[in-house]
Amino acid sequence: MGARRRTLVITRQVAARLAELAPIRPDTAHPHVAIRHPEACRECEGWHCAFLCPAGVFRLHRAPPWITVEHELCVECGACYILCPRDNIGFRWPRPGYGVANRYG
Ligand code: SF4
Ligand code: SF4
Repeated sequence: MGARRRTLVITRQVAARLAELAPIRPDTAHPHVAIRHPEACRECEGWHCAFLCPAGVFRLHRAPPWITVEHELCVECGACYILCPRDNIGFRWPRPGYGVANRYG
């Protein structure tokens, strides 16, 4: 198994564990994470979102759409909109009552 494939498998395992610790109530009507310009991802040199998001929200594909987004998995770390070299990720906090439900407050 290649290093990138291994990274994606580990990311999925971490996402599953995070989902156990902090249940998420997704706001399906108002996704809070989105790719602004999907065509720009074709020229991306690192696909950082797909390899660095701790929750596995971004999936890399070999053909359009180059990246798909499963905002329902997001644990709201805020890293994606900082790490994208093209400022191509739209992120905002979920509406009140949605998103990560903290167990202790
Ligand atoms: S890091 Fe940004 S430009 Fe690169 S694939 Fe992800 S969203 Fe697209
Ligand atoms: S905020 Fe964090 S968990 Fe959510 S999509 Fe961005 S990098 Fe992934």
